[in-house]
Amino acid sequence: MSDFDYDLFVIGGGSGGVRAARVAAGEAKAKVALAEESRYGGTCVIRGCVPKKLMVFASGYGPAVEEARDYGWQIGDARFDWGAFHPKMQTELDRLEGIYQRLLDGSGVERFDQRAVIADAHTVALADGTRKTAKHILIATGGRPVRPELENADLGIVSDDIFDLDTLPKSILIVGGGYIACEFAGVLAGMGVETTQYYRGAQILRGFDDEARGLIAEEMQANGVDLHCGSDLISMEKDGEGIRVKATNGTERVFGQVLFATGRRPNSDNMGLEEVGVKLGRRGEIEVDDYSQTAVPSIYAIGDVTDRMNLTPVAIREGMAFVETVFHGNPTKPDHELIPTAVFTQPEFGTVGLTEEEARDQEPIEVYATSFKPMQTAFAGRSARVLMKLIVSQESRRVLGCHIVAPQAGEMIQMAGIAVKMGATKEDFDRTVAVHPTMSEEMVTMRTPTRKA
Ligand code: NDP
Repeated sequence: MSDFDYDLFVIGGGSGGVRAARVAAGEAKAKVALAEESRYGGTCVIRGCVPKKLMVFASGYGPAVEEARDYGWQIGDARFDWGAFHPKMQTELDRLEGIYQRLLDGSGVERFDQRAVIADAHTVALADGTRKTAKHILIATGGRPVRPELENADLGIVSDDIFDLDTLPKSILIVGGGYIACEFAGVLAGMGVETTQYYRGAQILRGFDDEARGLIAEEMQANGVDLHCGSDLISMEKDGEGIRVKATNGTERVFGQVLFATGRRPNSDNMGLEEVGVKLGRRGEIEVDDYSQTAVPSIYAIGDVTDRMNLTPVAIREGMAFVETVFHGNPTKPDHELIPTAVFTQPEFGTVGLTEEEARDQEPIEVYATSFKPMQTAFAGRSARVLMKLIVSQESRRVLGCHIVAPQAGEMIQMAGIAVKMGATKEDFDRTVAVHPTMSEEMVTMRTPTRKA
């Protein structure tokens, strides 16, 4: 009989925390509790991946209607109605949150719908004043969007707020050049909002393959995003119903709304962490070892609060590895190598492995790349281009990186990711027969290197 109230107390009911809790309670038969101060499902389900993807779908019908006309369909005027879409999206999120709650209840996890903080190495203090002890504590509190330190920055909104807007603004300025900024730029422009984007650096999507970044930027502009790189805010102030913004590019304009997509921070504030000896990094991230264990042996942390790779499937993997390590006695490191990912820009971007720039710093490489107008949109008279690109090691012949900018690139990169993870060589790609006619067949038909480096 354990001296603790629980074998495991999880703080945070997002993707990582929920998975760890229910696997520990279900498969490992542990006595588990979980506290969540907001809504179950966390960033991904409530204010991230899921509603964002629904908005990506919604925004895609405008161009699809245009294209349909070019394919011979007779369609009247089409206009997006946020008022019709938004309540449906909220209902869907409520449904998904219910599923998360039922998954926990069904696996015997005791839920506390309130904030929890750390009181000591084995004790959690709940907002209602009660204290619970546990042999292990897992922190999975995620992260939150942050505004830059600029006077009046609170006039603008962050990504969390987009999903709660009652009406869409007529115009918006999006600040930032990362995943969130670029995804929302495409979504909002697609929904008919006049969209301007300021990014302080030379090119959006820093850290991704340069050639892919260039094409995405061009296509975003072609799709109606007024993108300005090398531009940042100097000041902002209220102007009637709008926000007047002065920028480093010499402009002064009034926007209906300003969205700050200027990065996220781990949710580790005021949780009693440092007081018990858990170490935090400069950005507030909980420092963990390869097994997600903090400096306090009974306390573990997974997901965005550790700021390793801030992606839902990675948090889930970290949660599973934690359960395997702690409850099955099988020390397991979550694998952070060769993680495929997609940025839901328009067009989408799917990527796995090294960028051309990273790879050529590491070893001699061959680059295979092709950019072309895909059949579906070319027929409709569009000039949109896609990019298929492979980075190959000259020595081992392994495909070190794969980058796709194309409609449905997220779907494609999941499959290509398997081959790259298995260590496929360029010759393995070559001996795979093309699926014709598709865009991705180019992945197995590029015979001559575009360049060597
Ligand atoms: P990112 O860190 O990707 O981007 C932040 C952007 O804001 C960068 O362009 C950065 O510029 C800029 N920025 C930061 N501080 C300032 C400032 N003070 N003033 C002006 N600009 C600033 O963060 P996101 O919030 O876009 O995304 C966070 C994470 O969430 C991602 O890294 C990803 O892991 C995850 N995510 C994943 C998605 C997916 O899988 N599709 C979708 C959305 C998010 P600079 O480049 O110069 O630093």
